[in-house]
Amino acid sequence: MVVAPPDLEAQLGALLGETTTEIDVPRKNRVFCNRNLRMDSIEMIGFDMDYTLALYHQEKLEQLSIELTLNKLIEKHGYPEAIRGLAYDPRWAIRGVMVDRRLGNVFKLDRHSHVGRCFHGFKELDHEKRKATYRNEKVNLSDDRWEWIDTLFGLPEAVMFTTMVDWADRQTGTVDYDKLFGDIRTAIDEAHRDDTLKSVIKADLPSYIVKDPLLGETLHKFRSSGKKLFLLTNSLYDYTTVVMSYLLDGERKAYPSWRNYFDIVIVGGAKPAFFNELRPFVQIDPQTFAPIPNGEIKHLSRDKVYQGGNVVAFEQMTGIKGEQVLYIGDHIYGDILRLRKQHMWRTAMVLQELEREISVSDRLEAQIKDLELLDRRHRNLESEIDYQTLRLKKMQRLLEEEATPAPLRARLEEERRVTRANVDSLRDRAKLMDTEVDSLESRVDRAYNSHWGSCLREGNENSRFGEQVNDYADLYTSRVSNFGPYSPLRYFRAPRRPMPHEV
Ligand code: IMP
Ligand code: MG
Repeated sequence: MVVAPPDLEAQLGALLGETTTEIDVPRKNRVFCNRNLRMDSIEMIGFDMDYTLALYHQEKLEQLSIELTLNKLIEKHGYPEAIRGLAYDPRWAIRGVMVDRRLGNVFKLDRHSHVGRCFHGFKELDHEKRKATYRNEKVNLSDDRWEWIDTLFGLPEAVMFTTMVDWADRQTGTVDYDKLFGDIRTAIDEAHRDDTLKSVIKADLPSYIVKDPLLGETLHKFRSSGKKLFLLTNSLYDYTTVVMSYLLDGERKAYPSWRNYFDIVIVGGAKPAFFNELRPFVQIDPQTFAPIPNGEIKHLSRDKVYQGGNVVAFEQMTGIKGEQVLYIGDHIYGDILRLRKQHMWRTAMVLQELEREISVSDRLEAQIKDLELLDRRHRNLESEIDYQTLRLKKMQRLLEEEATPAPLRARLEEERRVTRANVDSLRDRAKLMDTEVDSLESRVDRAYNSHWGSCLREGNENSRFGEQVNDYADLYTSRVSNFGPYSPLRYFRAPRRPMPHEV
């Protein structure tokens, strides 16, 4: 197939009334690209539901999760009524923090999986304590000691753990942090599975789910460019149909029901097992939600609903090749990582936080530039200090050598005195600059999150979470409807990334 060059594509898009130039899209609504992707070679687009098609009002959902989990901890796990009165702040945690179940700490990881800032309860460990606790330990994510909070559903766990560690430390006796985290995990897991959480959401959808008025139009645009759409969610059908109806039913004349947008609907997908196990597809009755016992599924029909399944059978039945599928999800581990590591499906990640992260960085643009400039000056100053210190050492050596003639010795002594004074004053300036960099850095950091800073960055580099988005998501954006303004034929191109020696 002949692909129109990007500028021709832009002209065509403009003639057809489409926005195809990135410049026209506000930064917080752009689709960003890590790995080149031609939308015209994508034949099927799959969607996760929770936190992808259905974004949640995060604080409301967290408050609800915390309340229901507390009920379970008190009623079923023997925790005292007092834990209800603690102050749980839903804004405390961010995606990408790591829980140390053994020591009761919560920390952020840098790009190299080393422990960055770290809290025990609400107390931040200072540099020395953190170093003594973790040394240069590299965190192996598969070890049971660590729990990585990598979905927005997980934030309440981190908030509750921190608040309860803080409380438990003030009680008498030793605290079993591992058990505490395990109990919170079990209680939250129960709340997700036994319908206590979902029945409240279903009864008041506008309070919990963000209705995006551009979603229907975006899906329609994909469809009218010839792409097939499918839904692949871990939620079960009873919940899926209520949420999807709320989002899409009656939004466009041609699509009275949400089902009209999708060629295949798969619920209870058990991702990541969908991608790395061979569970069978089961057809279910959309009224009773019960499985229909009709033997092995040989074809995925538009008018039916399936549960379970696996990627191998999916590709066989649809006849689709991996690289022709784009899957859009929000969960690195469940939705994105396996596809990139084991299959060919292309991936786009929805990062609900991105909108706010970009707004903050836009608002602080001047300060961030100041910080970069200051940081550069600081580095220059440090290399000047290193250079002058080296000169001092050489002078010292010459002065210690007996062969150095007297007139030169006097000159050297004079030069050493001047250089020493110079180095002292450079050091004073560096110290001042250090404080200035620190204070500017923490001001910028606090604007993202007062404890953790940006979820995608740690210090001057990507955080571990940011690095995973970078490594595994071909595209990323803050919501599905951000695809709307782009041509369905768009060639998303990754920016050129220089290596350090090229900068
Ligand atoms: P998806 O993102 O559409 O694949 O669906 C995520 C599903 O996982 C939702 O139904 C959530 O309620 C569910 N979920 C999230 N966290 C947990 C958990 O800890 N235990 C059980 N289910 C969960
Ligand atoms: Mg999801």
